[in-house]
Amino acid sequence: MTLIKDIVRILEDFAPPAWQENYDNSGLIVGDLNTDVSGILICLDSIEAVIDEAIAEKCNLVIAHHPIVFSGLKKITGKNYIERTLLKAIRNNIAIYAIHTNLDNVHHGVNHQLSTVMGLKDFKILSAKNSLLKKLVTYCPVAQAEQVRNALFSAGAGNIVNYSECSFYSEGTGTFKPGDNTHPFVGKIGERQHEREERMEMIFFAHYQSKILNALLKAHPYEEVAYDIYSLDNSLSSAGSGMIGMLETAMEEKEFLLKVKTVLKCSTLRHTHFTGKKIQKVALCGGAGFFLLNEAKASGADAFITADVKYHQFFDADGQILLVDAGHYETEQFTMQLLKDLLIKKFPTFAIRLTKVDTNPVKYI
Ligand SMILES: [Zn+2]
Repeated sequence: MTLIKDIVRILEDFAPPAWQENYDNSGLIVGDLNTDVSGILICLDSIEAVIDEAIAEKCNLVIAHHPIVFSGLKKITGKNYIERTLLKAIRNNIAIYAIHTNLDNVHHGVNHQLSTVMGLKDFKILSAKNSLLKKLVTYCPVAQAEQVRNALFSAGAGNIVNYSECSFYSEGTGTFKPGDNTHPFVGKIGERQHEREERMEMIFFAHYQSKILNALLKAHPYEEVAYDIYSLDNSLSSAGSGMIGMLETAMEEKEFLLKVKTVLKCSTLRHTHFTGKKIQKVALCGGAGFFLLNEAKASGADAFITADVKYHQFFDADGQILLVDAGHYETEQFTMQLLKDLLIKKFPTFAIRLTKVDTNPVKYI
């Protein structure tokens, strides 16, 4: 038996919900985490036709990139496509889960996939995120330090990119005086105790904080555990927006645009004036990524592929970069396969399908 929460755990280990933008609504939108999963249908947009497909294919979990609900609904009466979709999903016991900007922000997410499809090499995150890391400092009797360290590592502290169990410690002397009604691990009530202790420090992802503190309090021998938590400004090379990388060989601008058009199966492309430079360094951001234009320029990209660029925003390229609007659906379509690959690795025998519905709301003639 595989429950929705088992699937959600895989998705959220990969793309922590805490990494979504604050306007977003990723997570389980409709459904019960304890439901047994009969099949999974993956899409970019969980519109009504996708729910119909899920019913026909006996998939009771729809995983969408875009949340169908962004802001609060006061009534659900079926007066628009969002309400009709929700009603149909609920009536047919179909859960809807959205994995949106947290999947955009994770290194191996939407833009990693797009970079791979575009044939970029040596790519890295264009705008790294900060404020995702914290540091724990704690003090522990030397004899118990290893058990505390192990507990903290097991709870997820001390990971730096591909290194685990990273910490620093030094020995020193701590003091404390147990008050009335205390049960000190060492020392006597009313007397100052000098104790050989280790000062131990390690970084962790902010969203693990409660798990790590629980582990600390459980493993530490003291009745009152002394610890400090610091917020860090370090940016994280494994999380952030957009991607930047290199094409194997430089291309003429027109040739590059034709490649984008072919690879992303675009009916049409919108782009700025040619800059006259060949294209080799490419920045990209699937979906609405115009907000990254200045970072793309500053990092020396010859071209920036994104979507949802408005008329006046094209002027901002200012002859310095070839700005390409390749379409929202077109730049995110490979995300569905990314999710399927992620889940199939863990559930190889499970029915995991990509939607056959063309959910792109934009048409060209
Ligand atoms: Zn999108």
